[in-house]
Amino acid sequence: MSDVSRLPVVVADEWDWQLEGACRGFDSSLFFHTDNERGFAREMRESRAKAICESCPVLKQCREHALSVQEPYGIWGGMGEVERRELFRRRRRAHDRPAVQADAQETPA
Ligand code: SF4
Repeated sequence: MSDVSRLPVVVADEWDWQLEGACRGFDSSLFFHTDNERGFAREMRESRAKAICESCPVLKQCREHALSVQEPYGIWGGMGEVERRELFRRRRRAHDRPAVQADAQETPA
């Protein structure tokens, strides 16, 4: 479930980008998996959704939104759930690394 505490404040300007989404008019089931969807069927559905995102004029805003709220489900900004989780992990590791390196530098040999 999404952590709504990270959602931006409700201001129309913050959400207007959604009106320009290339996905408008498509069935949302193309962008969100069902509980039992696995394997090839899931890959194909995600590929079709990402192809729509590729031509979307608000891809950047959509991706930034999904990353800022750590959206756990669906295709957002051309990225799937696994890709977003990987990006979060990489960012967390990159964020943690300097502290570890700083500690190592402060410790006398
Ligand atoms: S980037 Fe993809 S999911 Fe986001 S608004 Fe555009 S088409 Fe929809």
